[in-house]
Amino acid sequence: MWRSPRRFAIPWPKRSPRAAARCAISSPVTDRAATFSSITSSTTAPANPAKSAATRSARSCRANVRRFTVRTVSIDRAALTHRLSRAPAAPTMTSQNDTLLTPRASHRSSKTDASTSMIDTLGPASGRRALIESFAPTLIAWQREHGRHDLPWQQSRDAYRVWLSEIMLQQTQVSTVIPYYTRFLERFPTIEALAGAPSDEVMSLWAGLGYYSRARNLHRCAQVVVEAYGGHFPRTVEALSSLPGIGRSTAAAIAAFSFGAREAILDGNVKRVLARVFGIDGFPGEKRVENAMWTLAQTLLPAHGDADIDAYTQGLMDLGATLCTRGRPDCARCAFTPHCVAYATGRQRELPVARPRKAVPVRHTLMLVMRRGKSIWLERRPPTGIWGGLWSLPEGSDTTALARVAELHGYHDSASAFEPLAPLSHTFTHFKLDIEPMLLDMVAAKTPSARDDAAGRWVALSELDEFGLPAPVKKLLAGLTGTLI
Ligand code: SF4
Repeated sequence: MWRSPRRFAIPWPKRSPRAAARCAISSPVTDRAATFSSITSSTTAPANPAKSAATRSARSCRANVRRFTVRTVSIDRAALTHRLSRAPAAPTMTSQNDTLLTPRASHRSSKTDASTSMIDTLGPASGRRALIESFAPTLIAWQREHGRHDLPWQQSRDAYRVWLSEIMLQQTQVSTVIPYYTRFLERFPTIEALAGAPSDEVMSLWAGLGYYSRARNLHRCAQVVVEAYGGHFPRTVEALSSLPGIGRSTAAAIAAFSFGAREAILDGNVKRVLARVFGIDGFPGEKRVENAMWTLAQTLLPAHGDADIDAYTQGLMDLGATLCTRGRPDCARCAFTPHCVAYATGRQRELPVARPRKAVPVRHTLMLVMRRGKSIWLERRPPTGIWGGLWSLPEGSDTTALARVAELHGYHDSASAFEPLAPLSHTFTHFKLDIEPMLLDMVAAKTPSARDDAAGRWVALSELDEFGLPAPVKKLLAGLTGTLI
């Protein structure tokens, strides 16, 4: 049964009669807006509250929320500092930039510290304290009743399985990950099996999941854990985050799910939830905003570890993935509706603040599809960089460059024989790649083609599935298979 958001309600400070008059509509949003407006009334309230009550709308109340948030930056510093000074100190990491990783560190920092002042803007002191203290219990209760409990990796606390799922889930949706996770475990049931596998096989199983540096790091990490830790993952965030491909948030998730450690996570989903619930302005990719969010995430942790931290960490992930989604937050079903700043101010679409816009650069490349009978020539890409370690088609900036490749395979003066195929494009994180494929039938090659070696080989179309191919190359060849055979 769906639990009403009101069941999680945090008591807000009592409204003054004036505030009650100004926000006549009774709802969590307007109740809260009324409270805020009562605090700002010394400078903003009209002389006749009764008249105002008849004319003002919930919209004006939301505007008061914004005004209040701006005005209380300095008022609430003492309350926040007091709250943070009472919070238990959490284990710290010792990076140079991490001076604000614990509440105590924040307490000791300068008054002008950007991270502290960022948290200072999170609504009124009383409401903020109540929200901070009730955040974990609310989230845990919601997760236990409405969160996800049947994902394949939730059935075990085994660090190998937890780690595998966390790496695959980075920037990738659960529904996409599940079949990959299952195939990986079938082929590599233990970390020793993964560590000892040929990299080609690992890359091939990963092909299609994207962000291929994750697969290379996954393989290296397995080898390090086997060689340096006897096949057992270390238990602390510090040691975990020193392993290849494991960042601070992933390390915290592994420590929480595998060992019940009381550690804060802060991936993209969590940043979105915190930005909305607490009304945090600023692009979360900016260092000062991210530092403030780490401080807040550490402060919000449940008081106890084990089962609570498990449900809490999973709850943050579930809330961000299922309700507080990027494009369509389902506020009507959310446990935080009565307290969420973004909901109260109608700013769900504005928060978190988007990355400052920059034009996405477009690159252009030609790809050569050399056909010899029922085989295609593939080349292995360098181990690092775009599509590192995967098999792909030869590339060139123009047809002259492609003709030089064909010449190595015994086909001279091939430029006029290129047959243009339908162009396609692929978007990476930082640029877009426009691909212009050219088909070349190698029947006119004068000499036997280059022999197979580690850097390239002729691959039968029926065997393409055994090679790790970049998604656009896979798509291109899949489209050709019917016409080439
Ligand atoms: S109320 Fe809406 S915006 Fe706020 S946390 Fe819930 S889903 Fe996200």
